[in-house]
Amino acid sequence: MEQAPRKRKCDSDQSPTPVCIVHVDGLKYADTMVEPNKILLAFDFDHTIVDGNSDTWITGCLPDPLPVTLKQDYIKGQWTNYMRKVLAYLNDSGVTVGKLKARLKEMQLVEGMAELLCWLASEHDRFDVILVSDSNSLFIDWILQRVDLQHVFGHIFTNPATVDACGHVLLKPHHSHSCSRCPVNLCKGQVLREYVASQPCCFSSIVYVGDGANDLCPVLSLSCKDAVLPRKGYSLMRWIKELLSEDSTNVLPHIVPWDTGFEILQFLQRITGTT
Ligand SMILES: [Mg+2]
Ligand SMILES: [Zn+2]
Repeated sequence: MEQAPRKRKCDSDQSPTPVCIVHVDGLKYADTMVEPNKILLAFDFDHTIVDGNSDTWITGCLPDPLPVTLKQDYIKGQWTNYMRKVLAYLNDSGVTVGKLKARLKEMQLVEGMAELLCWLASEHDRFDVILVSDSNSLFIDWILQRVDLQHVFGHIFTNPATVDACGHVLLKPHHSHSCSRCPVNLCKGQVLREYVASQPCCFSSIVYVGDGANDLCPVLSLSCKDAVLPRKGYSLMRWIKELLSEDSTNVLPHIVPWDTGFEILQFLQRITGTT
């Protein structure tokens, strides 16, 4: 991704919703978020729910770093293909599925995320919670099982993974798409748009929580009544700043950078009047 794509101007906010300005890191953001009815809350997983990257975390099963020749096999935008090779290498090195699972269960959630997800589990009347991740279904299931929080997510959109009879992890792409800014196996923007279109009712707003460059595409689908919550210090925040610097007249979704799940919890409680 060489340059942040231009954010379209919001043309959906026809109502005279009062606009206030939120100041974040010295930048101004239009805040037109309306009082919600039912909100779609979409989470990324790596570096958002868990405090690390589950795909790279598993290499800790090995006594040594991955061979340089294997790392050089990575082609930009084709992470899933690379992960297949990493998983095969781990298997050849004697790392069983049991060891992978045990390693992943050691991953810690981001501070405050367990409290946030527990609160959301009791707020199904207000939120439809989904997960959109470029990890895979096995890793996500194992980690969420440990903390007993799978039930919080109504849908999990990720790369499907299974274990075959020989104990090999088989990894497939989530879908195919034509989006030029996303990895070939997953366009989170398309996932979000298709999910919203598939629902019988409209959401009052969408809140997207993420950290990475591949979270930018869904953010570009958001309107001024929605919100993006980029993790502070991670690349999504930098991409959003670049969008803002391109054209100061752009009306973006409400932007709420965060460090911990507690800040996300406070934001959600504020917009739903549940503080
Ligand atoms: Mg992430
Ligand atoms: Zn995309």
